Order: sequence, then structure tokens, then C-alpha cells
Amino acid sequence: MTRLAVTCCAVLAPLFSIILGNPAVAQMQNSIPIFRPSLNSDEGGLWMAVEEIEKDTQRSPLLVDDETLNAYVTDLVCRLAGRNCASVRVYILEIPVFNATMYPNGMMNVFTGLLLRAENEAQLAFVLGHEIGHFLERHSIQGFRKARDTNSFLAFLSLGAAGAGVNYVADAANMIATGAFYAFNRDQERQADVHGFNAIVAHGYDPIQGAELWKAVIDEQEANPRRRAPSTFAATHPSPEERVRSLTQRAYEIKAQSKETTDGLERFREIIQPLRSQWLETELNRGEPEESVALFSRLLSNETESAELQYYLGEAYRKRGEEGDLDKAVEAFESAAGSDGVPAQVHRSLGLLAMKNGKKVAARDSLIRYLALQPEADDHEMIRFYIDQL
Ligand SMILES: [Zn+2]
Repeated sequence: MTRLAVTCCAVLAPLFSIILGNPAVAQMQNSIPIFRPSLNSDEGGLWMAVEEIEKDTQRSPLLVDDETLNAYVTDLVCRLAGRNCASVRVYILEIPVFNATMYPNGMMNVFTGLLLRAENEAQLAFVLGHEIGHFLERHSIQGFRKARDTNSFLAFLSLGAAGAGVNYVADAANMIATGAFYAFNRDQERQADVHGFNAIVAHGYDPIQGAELWKAVIDEQEANPRRRAPSTFAATHPSPEERVRSLTQRAYEIKAQSKETTDGLERFREIIQPLRSQWLETELNRGEPEESVALFSRLLSNETESAELQYYLGEAYRKRGEEGDLDKAVEAFESAAGSDGVPAQVHRSLGLLAMKNGKKVAARDSLIRYLALQPEADDHEMIRFYIDQL
């Protein structure tokens, strides 16, 4: 949660009308943007540059337009932002990595990779609260000024432009293009974590959930032998282990006060689960099967009966292809095949693996079953061809 982006009112206006009647809407209508920088300032220039990014975001093909999901995340952000609700605009983007980003003008981007990885509403709320923290503390303008002051090229561009925000737009665009814009420093990340933590405590969520999510993300990344944190990231961010330690300690201090808390699991699942298969598919196609195995195994440990997760775990094993993985894949597919709500693709996967292992009868049975469930599948001609060969 090192990056943040902003969305705009044009997108949200229809959304607000959909969720009329929701208490969060009244809160939005009563709240006013906390801050708007003068157009004659460097911060005004930064906002102008970011507003261009926001326009691009509104047209992005990655934008997730599901109304229920947008209303749910916007409502959660609004509750966490409290009186600053109207200043933050949420854009959900179909990007399969664990992240949310916050831009200085109040645009928040939430990636579907985060929605897939959060196990409950409390975990999601922690990340959103963290991003709101970056916004309220105005971390972007601090980074912008530091980069400008230490970069002679940017300083030259700004020379003679003092007092005219429009002259800072090029600087800001440059920073955005080079990624410097997104680099919050260690102290800012710690401060944002405190915001996230305080936000979930204030709203009655289980305070340990922030640390739980961080731990899960560390485990996932450590499962990947190819992953190395970029050096700039490592240099400017508190280590994930430090974050977990500090968040866990604070959570136990709060828990010791024995207040009743919730993780918001039921509501979260109601919204997320109907949309999840597309995100599981995108995650699988991200090309990091070691991480996908870790992620899908974790999700499955909370939902042991989910045929959908069993299928995707099997596919992740098949893609990872380490010793014994094909057997694990078959085991996962067979568990899925015996459950309710099984995806038709399970039978295709079982059939193709059986074919590979020379088990013609089993292969034929599974492939026929697949086509019976999905006669118009994109690959039906190829599957029909295989069946004829068996
Ligand atoms: Zn952050």
C-alpha cells in the first residue's frame, strides 16, 4: 500500500444515486472536502497533474463497474474517512496484485488483487484506512517537495515559476512517470499504518486483522524463489516483519481491554464471493504459480468446502509443476469434482491430466462431462477432437 490513486465525481455521481438511503450517503452529503490547495502553489500543480491521471482512470478498461461492489467499498471508505468522506473517490481496478494506492487529490485506487487477498472486512478496512492516512497526512506533497529540492533538473524547471501552480505540473508529471511520486518513506508508511490500525479499532473491527493480512502477504511472497524486493522499495519501507511485529503488539494491547470486536466476515463474503472467480482466473494467469499456490491454499483453509478454490489450487499446482504437483493437482480436482457448485473446467482439467497419463477411459469420461456442462465452451472443438481420439 505504497501507492494511491484518485477517482472523480463524474464516476461516483451515478454510484451515489444507487446507494441513496445508505447512511454513508448522508455522511458524504454532509461532509465537505477537507482541503483544496491554492492553484498558485506547488501543491495545486501536483493536484492538476493528478487530475489528468484521474481522467485516464475513469476511462480505464480495467475499471470494475460492478455496482454492488463499488457501493460496498465506497461505503466502507466513507465510514473510515468520517468527516473527510467527500474528499475520497474510489476506483476499483482489475489488477491482480496486492495493492491500493492513494493520490494527493483524494483518488483512491483499489486493486482486485487486494480484494482477493483480504479474508474479511476488517483486513480490507485496515488497508483502506492506511491509504486514507497517506491522504490526510498529505504525504505526496512532502515527497514531491523533497524530490524537487534534491533534483537539479526539477529545480531548474521550477525556477522563476514560484507562485504559479501550473508551472509545477510538468514536475509532477515527471515524478509520476519516474515512479518517484509513489515512494512514501518509512516514517510515512509507519504513520499510515497507525491510521489504518486506529481506523479499524475505532470502527469495532478485530485489531489483529491488519497484522494477519501482512503475515499472509509475506508468506505468499516468500513462497516465490524468484521474488526480490526492488532496492528502492526495501530502502524506503519498513520491513514487512517490522510492520507485523508492531501491529501485533498494538493489537494485543487493545485486545487486553476486552472490547467486543468483529471481523465483518459475513458481509464481506456476501459481496466478494460472487465476483471472485474472475479474479482467481486473473491471479492464476499472472504467471507466479508459487504465490498462487500459497494464496489459494490460505483461502481454502478458511473455506474447505469451496469447489471453486479447489479447482484453482489444482490449476496452480499444475502450473507450478514441481515434483509431486501433478498428483496434488489431481487430488484437488477430484475433491472439487465431488462438491456442489463445481466449475465445469474441473472435468476438463481432470480429463487432460488423465489423457497425459494414458488413462483413456477416465480421460474420455471427464472430457464428455465437461462438454455436457459447457457445450459452447471456447475450446469445445478441440475437446471434441480429443474425445474422438480416445
Ligand atoms: Zn502505504
